[in-house]
Amino acid sequence: MERFSLTCKVLYNNDLLNKTEEIKNNTPPKVIYNSLEEYETLEDKAIQICKEGITKMINTDNEYFFMRNFGINPGQYDDIRVILCDAFNTLTKGQANEWVNNYACIVNLTIYHTIVSLTESNVWYNVFDDLGKDGLINYLTNILKHTIVNGICNNNFKYSKKICYFKCIRCKEIVDFVSCKNLCETCIIKNLYENKLKNIFIK
Ligand SMILES: [Zn+2]
Repeated sequence: MERFSLTCKVLYNNDLLNKTEEIKNNTPPKVIYNSLEEYETLEDKAIQICKEGITKMINTDNEYFFMRNFGINPGQYDDIRVILCDAFNTLTKGQANEWVNNYACIVNLTIYHTIVSLTESNVWYNVFDDLGKDGLINYLTNILKHTIVNGICNNNFKYSKKICYFKCIRCKEIVDFVSCKNLCETCIIKNLYENKLKNIFIK
């Protein structure tokens, strides 16, 4: 990573990799992925970590039994933060920082308060019984999945652009969006234009 930083011609790229600034300003980690496929593979792995973590969290009969009354048990209180940090660390290629930890804390607390509030009404008993153990595992896993896929890394949301960066295979610029062929927006248009010219030439 350091060698890459030295060879970068563009100042912007150096700024992108400035981990000191990241720590000082408590900002999301900026990660450069080699391709969209690399990112998607890591995203799948991160979701799998969530699924395994949640399964482990509620899979003992005792924990599951007490969840009917407490929603999230005292012993489970911090588990979701730890699971999310682990998942983000995989997604960011080991670059989970203080910002990720804070973000995971907020998600953990939000889930905790939402479910504990439900237990204060009879609704929770119906939800709990309807879901069953597997349903509850899937439900909590889905919240974490949305946190990763939609809440933070979806291109339509503002945070995504702060984490995922890609190197365009054609112009080598570092950009926050590439197509499935790993081309930046400018190169997608250039390619289309060149293909069109080629087609006209062939005709
Ligand atoms: Zn490009």
